[in-house]
Amino acid sequence: MNRKILSAFLTAVVLLGSFSSISLPASGAGNFIITNPYADVNWTTFRQYKAALHTHSTHSNESGMTAAVNGLDVMSERHYSLGFHVVAVTDHSRTTVSPDVVPANISADAIRTPLSTARMNAMAQGAGRGGAEGMIFIPNSNERSHTLPAITTDNHHVGAYFVDSTRSGSMSAFLSDFDTRNGYAVLNHPSRYVGAAWSDTTNKTTVRTIFNRESVWRPYADLYLNHSSLKGLEIVNEFDYDSQGTRILWDNILRQTAPAGKLVWGFANDDAHHVPTIGYTYNLLLMPSLSLDYVRTSMDSGAFLAFGRVDRSRDIYPVATMREQSNNRRDDSAIRRALDMPVPAITSISVGVDTVTVNARVSGANSTYPENASNMTIQ
Ligand SMILES: [Zn+2]
Ligand SMILES: [Zn+2]
Repeated sequence: MNRKILSAFLTAVVLLGSFSSISLPASGAGNFIITNPYADVNWTTFRQYKAALHTHSTHSNESGMTAAVNGLDVMSERHYSLGFHVVAVTDHSRTTVSPDVVPANISADAIRTPLSTARMNAMAQGAGRGGAEGMIFIPNSNERSHTLPAITTDNHHVGAYFVDSTRSGSMSAFLSDFDTRNGYAVLNHPSRYVGAAWSDTTNKTTVRTIFNRESVWRPYADLYLNHSSLKGLEIVNEFDYDSQGTRILWDNILRQTAPAGKLVWGFANDDAHHVPTIGYTYNLLLMPSLSLDYVRTSMDSGAFLAFGRVDRSRDIYPVATMREQSNNRRDDSAIRRALDMPVPAITSISVGVDTVTVNARVSGANSTYPENASNMTIQ
């Protein structure tokens, strides 16, 4: 599926009103096949489950962390109160087998803040949600923070899920092992490793140039082609202040991998290190009901939407403010306003021989928030 076409669509969808259906022919000459990751989605009966797949806690043991603001228990509660259904706790190089278990290799001086088993079970049952489904955790989640060696840098972070990844060794050795054990890996925030953090409007050209450089994208493409467990790229991180260029990288990777039959899925993650940054950027998993098996199926097949309230946010909020909210862990009310803004919802996506059709609805929206229109990224 051509992501650029869909991105153009979504902008048009919201401009047209509260409900629209648009079909567009795929562009370009020559033979092609549009692969539809949503082919098995029943848009009438499936629900869209809110998933946080990259979030931290005091178990990452970074400076300034406190049990009150960064505790895994309070982070979990915040996700729950914001209606999340799926959470993967990804502390740096520490595998969270389950949120009620402290990672085995945690630092001696780290603040231990596991969720209680009783509360974890209550969340799974949907306690306090009036009969609605609850929230479950992906087992064995981790953000492996490699030091040596790596593809274009010596310090790439990798989201790892479902299978224990607490092993020493290089990133490629880890991925080779992960391949054999049916793990699931996602490369996180690549902008930071190739000098392409899109932090303001003045260096867009530079960022574009970097990610269009073959010496940058080819090592990534090769990594995806060489490792079956490597399935995703984090295309939106935090408030998106330095990850926009990643979509250029994504395009260049897919140009290499798609013809070889390997599709790379794009993920959107809060990468929250503290409570105030939860809820802006997440994934909507399209599933018939809430279960770990369906979560895995959705992530494997690409039947999900990467969603950000903050895409194009530089047009709304100053980059410096977003960075301050993230780095200094303050809770900026101007940014927090985004949590209450109406957002568009994709109601169906269908693919014909040479067309892609997207239906979208904006509940309670009005035209004063057109920026939300382009906040969704379809893969
Ligand atoms: Zn990271
Ligand atoms: Zn992280």
